[in-house]
Amino acid sequence: MSKIEKLLVVGAGQMGAGIAQVAATAGVQVFLRDISIERATAGKKTIEASLDRFVKKEKLAAAERDAILARITPTDQIEAALDAQFAIEAATENIALKQKIFAELDTKLPSHVVLATNTSSISVTLLAASTKRPEQVIGMHFFNPVPMMSLVEIIRGLATSDAAFAQTQALALALGKEPVTSKDTPGFIVNRILVPMLNEAFYSLQEGVATAEDIDKAVKLGTNQPMGPLVLADFIGLDVCLAVLEVLHREIGDPKFRPCPLLRKYVEAGWLGRKTGRGVYAYDDVKK
Ligand code: NAD
Repeated sequence: MSKIEKLLVVGAGQMGAGIAQVAATAGVQVFLRDISIERATAGKKTIEASLDRFVKKEKLAAAERDAILARITPTDQIEAALDAQFAIEAATENIALKQKIFAELDTKLPSHVVLATNTSSISVTLLAASTKRPEQVIGMHFFNPVPMMSLVEIIRGLATSDAAFAQTQALALALGKEPVTSKDTPGFIVNRILVPMLNEAFYSLQEGVATAEDIDKAVKLGTNQPMGPLVLADFIGLDVCLAVLEVLHREIGDPKFRPCPLLRKYVEAGWLGRKTGRGVYAYDDVKK
């Protein structure tokens, strides 16, 4: 099994940029692909800003930052990355879009290349079926922000080969991550457990069990977590939480996953959390 030295990352948003940053920091050459060169370059700019913060805190030398950035090539063409040995797709969470990307990667990249997806909720097996190499398709689910969060969930589709799994696990370790293995099931491990807990916090708020502040304080101190569930939901994005709950509810079919009406109301109002300046809490520091 050869070491991955060239990686293609598809999607240069929050997650794609984070994955590219971690890979380039680990010495991997990265092609960062988005739908336009402007978006791909914006992804690289995000990485630069993140690395600058490490330089300011004296956790990274300026020369090392420059070397990391030099390993990242923004592009709008898969053709720029035909010698990549591994691909990670981190584009927008949309089934039809991801199926199209997988079909294109399958046509353009050599058949031995593993095609991984960072999807939070879409079936890996379904994406694998858009290719002629389902044994080479796998889930590689990073956590946000990627440079700070050590966990990677590795998800085997129905057809994923042992070799593709071993190569993905080796890559996760080479990127300094802690891999765990999950079945290809809605929410995988973390979101299946975490998101229903966030949902229950909304039910508690809806039923007037306590104020939002006290729900957060109680869970934070009572279960020794870094933040309360409503603050965390605002950070993740209430639309994202709702979307994950809907997948869990629809695909597992158990009513315990039904999204809280109050959460739905917040999303209808456009109160999506920190990113829109308003969720359960107001964030005056964030531009609306
Ligand atoms: P984002 O909106 O920040 O970025 C998505 C990027 O994909 C955008 O830059 C968009 O232009 C690009 N894109 C769209 N179509 C494309 C195409 N055809 N080719 C290349 N690029 C394309 O989203 P994100 O938060 O980075 O999420 C990306 C993926 O990661 C999703 O599948 C999401 O479920 C998953 N994920 C997100 C989080 C999170 O906390 N945000 C955590 C784990 C996994």
